[in-house]
Amino acid sequence: MDKNTEENLQRTRRRLLQAAGWGSIGALLPALGCGGGSTDGDGVSFAMGRSARTPTTTTSATTLPSTGLSGRVVVVGGGMAGAAAAKYLRLWGGSGVSVTLVERSASYTSNIMSNLVLTGQRTIGSLQYKYDSLVSRYGINRVQGDVVAIDPLARKVTLASGGALAYDRLVLAPGVEFIYEQGVGIPGLESAAAQARVPHAWQAGAQTTALRSQITAMPRGGVFVLTIPAKPYRCPPGPYERACLVADWLKKNRAGSKVVILDANPGITAEVHTFTDAFMNVHAGVTEYHANVTLNGIDTSTMTVDSSVGRIRANVINAIPPHRAGRVVTAAGLADQGGRWASVDQLSYESKVAAGIHVIGDSAGTAQPKAGHIGNQLGKVCADAILRAFGGLSPDPAPVTNSACYSPITMETASWLTAVFAYDPDTQAMAAVADSFREAAARDGGNFSNMGKWFNALMSETFS
Ligand SMILES: Cc1cc2nc3c(=O)[nH]c(=O)nc-3n(C[C@H](O)[C@H](O)[C@H](O)COP(=O)(O)OP(=O)(O)OC[C@H]3O[C@@H](n4cnc5c(N)ncnc54)[C@H](O)[C@@H]3O)c2cc1C
Repeated sequence: MDKNTEENLQRTRRRLLQAAGWGSIGALLPALGCGGGSTDGDGVSFAMGRSARTPTTTTSATTLPSTGLSGRVVVVGGGMAGAAAAKYLRLWGGSGVSVTLVERSASYTSNIMSNLVLTGQRTIGSLQYKYDSLVSRYGINRVQGDVVAIDPLARKVTLASGGALAYDRLVLAPGVEFIYEQGVGIPGLESAAAQARVPHAWQAGAQTTALRSQITAMPRGGVFVLTIPAKPYRCPPGPYERACLVADWLKKNRAGSKVVILDANPGITAEVHTFTDAFMNVHAGVTEYHANVTLNGIDTSTMTVDSSVGRIRANVINAIPPHRAGRVVTAAGLADQGGRWASVDQLSYESKVAAGIHVIGDSAGTAQPKAGHIGNQLGKVCADAILRAFGGLSPDPAPVTNSACYSPITMETASWLTAVFAYDPDTQAMAAVADSFREAAARDGGNFSNMGKWFNALMSETFS
């Protein structure tokens, strides 16, 4: 492609962004964050095929300008990564790129901020996002359904309803599945009844409100046990943040109670300075932190945790099990990293196992944290790479992503954490940029208020 054509296509992308009101994506990210994750894509015509059986879709009459690109993309999972990928495929790809977003739920419930549901500061309803804007503003085809099978040779996915969708490129963004099988999960939690008694609340929704009810039913002087799985798990600071918020709520509402944290990791995995201070000082006398803990089992009939640091009787047990890529990824044989995570080309997020299938968000096995902010970024990098492929081009050779996160330490104060990742051509992987890991020097109320602004910007960036 010659320089003039490339410049023309870059201008087209800028016009598309401006038309949609996204003149500067980076400006929408929080003040502490860095720029977004991707650069310009471009392309030529691509012949479209047709699906044999097309399920019912919700499609708007929105017409974006043509960029000269065409192709069919099916995105599975309308969470942080999938919704971002779907939006940017249309926004950057224009009217010739057909995007179908398949999500099993009617709306998305954000995990981010869901720890504040436990303290009664947010409701689950306030964390729900509909897909209407993606349909009306970008002309995304919305299918509510569950993808149960992938045929990589015929390039189609099958829905639980029996319908099928054909694709030229498939993007899988199903989040995570929790591991409960004997020998891998936490012993004692294999049955559905045990899982209901000991919720993880690590996928926001009914389990979050169930855990809130259990906390409010605790007596004074009660014991709340939180177990943390070995890395990698979704949202590295999330469990410590939860311990702090529950400790603060108990301090204010159930005097004399304790929060016991049983961490399978050798130490706190994120914001070490902040959470060490929180457990040693801010919540001293309430929190009890143990590292390197092995769980021998949980007995839900006596509410006892048997661990390498002893047997603990609890009023509430919040056990976060180990997790792996969403089932649609593992079932398709794409989780080549110990059956848990999918190896991907980290320039395009194309699976290393199956051509034409991209895996993004928490299911992808990279060194980037499993986080919603990163999921949004991977969605954009992947969208850009697919559009370039439709145009016969290679992916951007130097993608940069950033992770930003606020952590409430009390019900009124928060800290923050940020990091930047860049592609390292030597290892062919995304790696943390030297000295880019930053955490707040101290928790304060200003951070707590900025947290709300960051969250609203991220969700609006992803779903509107
Ligand atoms: C308590 C908590 C706090 C957190 N706080 C933060 C934070 O402050 N900052 C941050 O960046 N991250 C945070 N995270 C992490 C963040 O929520 C996840 O990393 C992020 O949601 C991952 O995005 P995803 O798109 O991969 O998965 P998800 O957001 O989980 O979305 C996956 C979607 O796929 C759908 N799906 C799955 N399988 C199928 C299928 N077969 N067919 C159709 N649909 C399917 C699901 O219904 C779901 O909607 C937090 C997580 C938790 C639990």
